[in-house]
Amino acid sequence: MKCIFCSIAEKSIPAKVEYEDTEVVAFHDINPQAPTHILVIPRKHIASLRDISQAHVELMGKLLKISSELARKLGHEERGYRVVINTGPDAGQSVFHIHAHLLAGRSLGWPPG
Ligand code: 5GP
Ligand code: ZN
Repeated sequence: MKCIFCSIAEKSIPAKVEYEDTEVVAFHDINPQAPTHILVIPRKHIASLRDISQAHVELMGKLLKISSELARKLGHEERGYRVVINTGPDAGQSVFHIHAHLLAGRSLGWPPG
């Protein structure tokens, strides 16, 4: 079966897309954990942060920049927000296409989970 986030990036599975360009897609999480819960993914399939190499440095910087731009656009600049990349079993990663969670709109506990 094809990777679910590759399918969302290709539009063969629908999602509420908040932003997209040639390299990155940002869409709302199907099971939101905060009033704003957006997943920011590269179109390129990279399984997890464990698979990042020098070749991905610019792309990963872009994921963070787009996360911050979306947070600003959606009104979370002042109160703040959290950007999380779950990696591997202890972090509870369940989709193996790298994604940054942008969480905002409520006070977020620390430490997480
Ligand atoms: P992880 O647990 O891997 O860090 O996060 C995976 C996230 O993907 C979860 O928050 C889950 O709700 C979300 N998710 C899983 N399947 C879909 C889907 O088909 N559509 C959308 N929009 N989100 C999904
Ligand atoms: Zn994928």
